[in-house]
Amino acid sequence: MHNIIIAIDGFSSTGKSSFAKLIAARLGILYLDSGAMYRAVTLYALNSGYITADHTIDEAALKADLDAGKVEIAFVRNEETGKYGITLNGADAETRIRQLDISGNVSYIAVIPFVRNFVDNLLHRYGENGCIMDGRDIGTAVFPNADLKIYMTADPAIRAQRRLDEMKAKGETASFEEVLQNVKERDYIDSHRAMNPLRKADDALELDNSHMTFDDQMKWLGGVLKERFGIDF
Ligand code: C5P
Repeated sequence: MHNIIIAIDGFSSTGKSSFAKLIAARLGILYLDSGAMYRAVTLYALNSGYITADHTIDEAALKADLDAGKVEIAFVRNEETGKYGITLNGADAETRIRQLDISGNVSYIAVIPFVRNFVDNLLHRYGENGCIMDGRDIGTAVFPNADLKIYMTADPAIRAQRRLDEMKAKGETASFEEVLQNVKERDYIDSHRAMNPLRKADDALELDNSHMTFDDQMKWLGGVLKERFGIDF
């Protein structure tokens, strides 16, 4: 079973990562968060002054640094918690990459073809021996031959509220309108970009969790794993 590749795609804040993390733990496979990679590149670009307030990116400078190997992104296992977290040039970036200034810029970084190639290479390196990976184009572009593809959706207002609750739990402040606007803006950019836009793969199973509890979703998945792979989940 360890060679299985499960691709989970969908809009932001559909609960992909919580779902994927739990499945990874239950199946004993590696969880990889592809959005975190784009967020880490965004953090690097912001720190380097390559993104202006109106989201214009200094692509030449960013490309030069990526090509020169100046942007080292890794998934590192925390020995105490056993969880994987992302690092940027050796420093833990897990908390920083979830903040609103990164969320507000990441979709502009993720449309750039050389950034997508850079991230795709990393994802293949980490994931090709088996994993559950979430993102926007995993089932359509990164692992088109994945063993199982799930496409998650939920109502935008419900997603914004979930995101806001998560931020509040971490002590961050933002208004519902601000978060909803960010959710809608990212939905639009992610599904309209030229390279690997978010779309449901033809062979993906759709899971609309607007009105489903986490337990409902796990039960749904249990049924799928049993039917497809004979796995008792
Ligand atoms: O999943 P998350 O919201 O953390 O992803 C952050 C952003 O990274 C997305 O809004 C999207 O612009 C980009 N992304 C992507 N392709 C992926 C994963 C994320 O373009 N596979």
